[in-house]
Amino acid sequence: MKRRIVIKVGSNALTRTDGRLDVTRMSALVDQIAWLRQQDFEVILVSSGAVACGRRELKATHELDSVEQRQLFSALGQAKLIGLYYDLFREYHIHVGQVLTMKENFSPGEQYKNQQACMRVMLENGVLPIVNENDTVSVTELMFTDNDELSGLIAQMMEADTLILLSNIDGIYTGNPADPQSQLIKEVAPGSDLSQYIQTEKSSAGRGGMQSKYATASKIQAAGIRVIIANGKRDNVLINLIEDPIHTPHTEFLVHATH
Ligand code: GLU
Repeated sequence: MKRRIVIKVGSNALTRTDGRLDVTRMSALVDQIAWLRQQDFEVILVSSGAVACGRRELKATHELDSVEQRQLFSALGQAKLIGLYYDLFREYHIHVGQVLTMKENFSPGEQYKNQQACMRVMLENGVLPIVNENDTVSVTELMFTDNDELSGLIAQMMEADTLILLSNIDGIYTGNPADPQSQLIKEVAPGSDLSQYIQTEKSSAGRGGMQSKYATASKIQAAGIRVIIANGKRDNVLINLIEDPIHTPHTEFLVHATH
């Protein structure tokens, strides 16, 4: 049976410090996902970056409120993002399919089954699902907290073995990551409480932050799915996590205690 991995790439992993889309990084991630598929992993990609990408595309004619900004920039940016993924994956002859979803599709019932069936038929046909929230029409109060939450729900829905959250930080540290005294927490046993270590500042480009990654990771770990938080800006991070995990900085939420 194929091993199924959900990979979530955050806006911060996909953008440069000035907010522009980092196409080189995107291309490197695509190379690695193609490699994973060659190793017989089934991959579902949850990619943020639509809003960040759209924001760079045009100057609005008048001042926009936050909802208008999200609607306009996500519509523009998603088209650009998926177009780039399409071209990059095409080099590997990998078909990609766009899945834009909303929180209501994850409540038990018809919509849940429909969403699940959609991704199943894509996977059965070798199509790589690229998922994002449908930010253009999502109502603020009913949105996912961020794509960390969305990727966790997808991992559960699709019974993935592993969820990998890629951001611009190596994982969870025992203190401020900028402080040399802080240490990277490598493994998190089931039931551990790391809340004292979680930094509350939010990431700059996306909606998430370490707090939401930790909340998602604990919940998904409790559901029996391994979660890895790693740095999408590190070269070959996905390949190294598989081939040389010991020397690849990351935080892993273990499903079974090692001792
Ligand atoms: N869906 C948003 C986007 O693509 C990102 C949400 C998040 O930052 O998690 O821009």
